[in-house]
Amino acid sequence: MYEALRIIVTGRIQGVGFRPFIYSLAVKHHLTGSVQNNRGRVTIVVEGEAAAIRKMVKELTASSPPLSKIDQVNTEQVPPAFYQQFTILRSEETSDSLPLVSPDAAVCEDCLEEFSDPTNRRYRYPFINCTQCGPRYTITKRLPYDRPYTTMGEFEMCPLCRSEYENPLDRRHHAQPICCPRCGPAIKLFDLKGKVISEDHEAIKGAVNQISQGKIAAVKGIGGYHLVCDAFQTSAIKRLRQKKNRPQRPLAIMVKSLDDAKKYCEINKLEEEMLTRPARPIVVLKKKADCPLPESISPGLSTIGIMLPYTPLHYLLFEKNVECLVMTSANLSGRPISYRERPSEELASMCWIIIETSTFPSMIQSFSLTAAA
Ligand SMILES: [Zn+2]
Ligand SMILES: [Zn+2]
Repeated sequence: MYEALRIIVTGRIQGVGFRPFIYSLAVKHHLTGSVQNNRGRVTIVVEGEAAAIRKMVKELTASSPPLSKIDQVNTEQVPPAFYQQFTILRSEETSDSLPLVSPDAAVCEDCLEEFSDPTNRRYRYPFINCTQCGPRYTITKRLPYDRPYTTMGEFEMCPLCRSEYENPLDRRHHAQPICCPRCGPAIKLFDLKGKVISEDHEAIKGAVNQISQGKIAAVKGIGGYHLVCDAFQTSAIKRLRQKKNRPQRPLAIMVKSLDDAKKYCEINKLEEEMLTRPARPIVVLKKKADCPLPESISPGLSTIGIMLPYTPLHYLLFEKNVECLVMTSANLSGRPISYRERPSEELASMCWIIIETSTFPSMIQSFSLTAAA
């Protein structure tokens, strides 16, 4: 029997690949109709065989995208309009209830694979992202969550990115921060007077070089700067503590992978699952008896706070024998996190060189390096 159903879904469904997901479900079940974001919810109209519609509704809740969170699904039979195809409609502009924008999410496995593939056009590109990962909340200027209303709006997509963005079957369909080395932000290494020292891969190389020589870097991550140094260099940790005016409190570290974390700490299944969540929390773990990390990271404690990388840039920092990094927010003890696009004078007073990109404002765009004071 031919039927039509209107489905209204509420929850965290913007910027998580929800519309493309619905599109692929509709195509799979040979249904026509439309999907649209409006007023903080997604409205779907599907037409076709009743049995196919039922299956589609079931899959909608059972296999929704990992970053989405469905609160409610309401369905209502409507008269068929005999659509010829299934289409993704533009978001409705007005918003009288607040849609839930997904939080920023750590780079996903698919993107990491491309990031590590020398033949991929986004090989080692620090801003690689897709509908399942990357910045969301921090790049949103206003709602609805669509590219023109994000800080990525000022970057015009190149033809290749545009074709991915517009292809409903591409995994970057409507990924608002989509970009590539040709059209997206880039990283630059500055000295403190604002002079460019190097760019792109050279900037990263320069930064890693300094870190491996025991210098302190300031990396702009999601939401603010981190001060970073090699976790195996006790003199760097000591200087970092002095600059931060934080003589004793434990410092968190970042390691490249779960396997690396297991070299230093005892990790059970639950802790493993927590470490790898898209939000990448710092997890406090029990140090192994033979843990080779310096005592000065968490003086007098049997535990250590560990996190895994969450931006592609983080992964680029683990080169040249850099295996483990101390990471701490770049504010002085007790002050709120520093989020400005240009490092504050306060931050500059702790640094020597600055790396900055032409914006993913409020995302990674900058980091800086401190020479030994
Ligand atoms: Zn991804
Ligand atoms: Zn591009």
